Order: sequence, then structure tokens, then C-alpha cells
Amino acid sequence: MRILLQFPEGLKQHAVEYAKKIEKEGNEVIISASPSFGACDVAVDEAKAVGAQKIIHFGHAEFIHINDIEVEYVEYSIDADLSILKESLEMLKEYKKINVVTTVQHLKQLPSIKEFYEKNGKEVIIGRPYGLAKYSGQILGCDVGSAATVDKEVDAHVYFGGGLFHPLGAVYATKKPFLSIDPFADKMLWLDEYREKRKKLEKGLIIKSLSAKNFGILVSTKVGQYNIELAKIIKEKLEKNGLNGFILVANTFDFDSLNNMLEIDAFVNTACPRIATEDNDRLRKPLLSPNMLEEMLKIKAGKEK
Ligand code: SF4
Repeated sequence: MRILLQFPEGLKQHAVEYAKKIEKEGNEVIISASPSFGACDVAVDEAKAVGAQKIIHFGHAEFIHINDIEVEYVEYSIDADLSILKESLEMLKEYKKINVVTTVQHLKQLPSIKEFYEKNGKEVIIGRPYGLAKYSGQILGCDVGSAATVDKEVDAHVYFGGGLFHPLGAVYATKKPFLSIDPFADKMLWLDEYREKRKKLEKGLIIKSLSAKNFGILVSTKVGQYNIELAKIIKEKLEKNGLNGFILVANTFDFDSLNNMLEIDAFVNTACPRIATEDNDRLRKPLLSPNMLEEMLKIKAGKEK
């Protein structure tokens, strides 16, 4: 069988090792060298172009079902050192009921983390994702349901894992104190100030786009991000409001290319929702989420009255 292997950036260093193993099993192997940003980003077009019958997508849990081609998701677990949890007890001493979230890499450690806190007098609530993430307690950049759905019930949230990309999505969607525990950097950090920063940034971008006339609506062709229907609705809405909407399509958006579109005054995102929260500073023009666009149109209508 001809198989296309796909790895997220952190696992590309093991690509050859896996390729050899799968070749030994009698398969023809082709490795995708494109960046892979998430479980939404399954290389269906590449697989079709090289005539692969199957894709093995490493490092992520299943995100959406793909009909066109067989896809095997191979999750990747990391056993991080849990000794840092002891130090977190002091930081969490005022909070009795806590929610714990993590990425798919540490899900197998979630029962041990829960047990540790329970043994130390906490009540631990594990939330459920909205549906894009697969497991209770798991968060993705675009599915923070495991934190957001239990926000009202708990006194604080705890994220266990590396980096800020995942916890920040959950911070924006919750109101309770949010502690990030990074076992790799051996660091713990309250992330609550990011909420205020984000609110201010969004407000600034909305105000900046009030004078925009031409809007570029971003549509990604990645299987788990593609949303042309939403783009069409946004275009119609803009036109009803006397503005122009142009649908811009790409697999991965290159910010230099977008910056070259000098006639576009603002962008609206229908692709990975985190582009609007993470990448605004890479664009010369404001990038709005669909909700921010709504807000902008409301303000504009109010001003014109
Ligand atoms: S849509 Fe964005 S946040 Fe969601 S899985 Fe894909 S890259 Fe990650």
C-alpha cells in the first residue's frame, strides 16, 4: 500500500524512523514535508496528488472524519515529570474546586494529576470538550470546552502542559483564575492578565476597521478548517452594509502575501480561529474574527444613525 506519513513540527525529527518501520511492513512510504499545524490539517490533497491510499497522521487525536481517504491518527503521549505539582499547591491554596485541562500528549497523565490534587484536599472537575477535541479534559486551540463548560462550577483552572498556545485559548473563554503549569520549562504562571490584554487588542482592531471598505475574507483549504459557506455569509453581510468582501483562499496563509494586498483594508477570518488571536501583529491591516466583525458593524450602524 502507498502511505503518506504526516507529522506535526515537533515530531518531524522522528519521520525517518517511522518511515523505515512502515516500509519494512511492505508499504511504499511518502513523507509530507509541509508544515502541519493541528489535527485539522490532514494532507488529503498531497495524498491524492501522490496516489496514496492511506494517510497516517501522527501526534493528534481524531478531529473530523474524512470520507475521501483512509486516515489513521496516531496519538503521541509524553510522560512529563509531575513533581512540579507539589509547588502548585501553594499557588492554589485559596481554591478548593479546580478544573484540570491538558493536551492530548498528557491525557494519560490526567488521572494521576487528578488523584494528586484530590489527595491534597481539592475537588477536581474534568470538563467535556465542545466536540472538536476528542476526550474529556483535553483542549485544542479551537476547542476549549473542557475548561469553558465548567467555568461556573469551579474556583480556578489548571492547565498542565508545554507552551501558552493551548491554555490561552481557554483563558479567553473563561473568567476564573487560570494557572498554567509547564513541566518542561519548570514554570508556573497565572495567565489572567492575558484576558484583559486580549479584550483591549480586540477593541483596538474593531475601531481600526471602522473605516475599512474592502474586506478580505480568509478561507483555508485545510480539511478541518474549510468554511466557504461562512465566508459567503460574511461577504453578503458586508455587501448589505455597503462594504466590499473578497474571498481569499489558501492552504496555509502567508502573511507577507496578505500584506501585499494593499487594496484590502481589513481581514475577516473563517479559518483556524486562533489566527485571529495569535497572528494579528503579522498583518499590516486588522484581522477580525466573525464575532468582531459583527461588533464592528453594530458600532458602525450606531454611528451612522
Ligand atoms: S483549527 Fe487551529 S486550533 Fe484547531 S486544530 Fe487546527 S490548527 Fe489547531
